[in-house]
Amino acid sequence: KVLGLRETTLDDDSKGIHDWRTYSMPGDSLNIPGRLVEPLNPEVGPSTVKPFYLFQTPFLIAQASLLIQRMATADLKVLPKLKWTLEFPYHEQWGKAVFLAQTEVQGEELTEVDASSCSLCVPAVPIDPSPPRILEHMGADILLDSKVDRSTEPCGMCGLPAQQCRYVVVKERGSKASNHVDWKRTVGCARPVNFSCKRALEYSDSSPCTNVPLVCPLCTTDDPAVWRYNLRNHLEQKHSTEAVIRYASLWTLSEDEVAGMKRIWRDRRRSKATYTKKAPVLLTVSDAHRSIAPLHRYARSPFPVFR
Ligand SMILES: [Zn+2]
Ligand SMILES: [Zn+2]
Ligand SMILES: [Zn+2]
Repeated sequence: KVLGLRETTLDDDSKGIHDWRTYSMPGDSLNIPGRLVEPLNPEVGPSTVKPFYLFQTPFLIAQASLLIQRMATADLKVLPKLKWTLEFPYHEQWGKAVFLAQTEVQGEELTEVDASSCSLCVPAVPIDPSPPRILEHMGADILLDSKVDRSTEPCGMCGLPAQQCRYVVVKERGSKASNHVDWKRTVGCARPVNFSCKRALEYSDSSPCTNVPLVCPLCTTDDPAVWRYNLRNHLEQKHSTEAVIRYASLWTLSEDEVAGMKRIWRDRRRSKATYTKKAPVLLTVSDAHRSIAPLHRYARSPFPVFR
């Protein structure tokens, strides 16, 4: 059960020693690994009807800092995520957020790709984790986002340039030959999600994206695969304009696919616009209530108090 924190009034603590109190926050119970829980022994408030606990700011800051120092990067994945509401992140009566635990480390490590959101979209957009949805999200970015640098041949799964993310696909034998990803030799993908090339290549109205890694007919066997949406560009840059024409059947998309991808792109922009209107993007944090700790890796995670 999650407890909210709010500033006390003199009714809560007549002596005015404690400046924060708990209250029961609406919402579901959360599960969290025991190693991330710090048992506390706080003062109990005077109310007998609805009992609550009393805290002081320095104590809460110290707890947030202690918890985050104890965490490893992998722990961030198991932390429950709470929606941004009027109750959470905790905030002062007049607005500023409090008890934000964050790390000292910034800069390079922050650019590490977060698998749950798209690295090509600014601001980052969360991605549905199923392979067809990832492919079509990244595919729409590669095809239609003018800010994406297509000359880098971005990966259809993670968006990293081909220099960093190298897929190797193996051609299967037989008349209905299809490719599959050779995961042993594929390196650098920030979102190595297994998917079926065969199924992805089959166009359907509900899943129009056919962006899969292909074997370039002109590259050597040591070269990585080329994603279908990048192939035209690849042939033009690495090979020749003549190759672009000769292998047009490999990179040409059907009208239906182009229309489907445009629809995905348009719908996403629409939902993004309503999202930004609703949620404030920046959290105004009260400096007096902040804990900054050196964590092993990047993290920026406000801490709820658990019981
Ligand atoms: Zn994106
Ligand atoms: Zn990748
Ligand atoms: Zn090539």
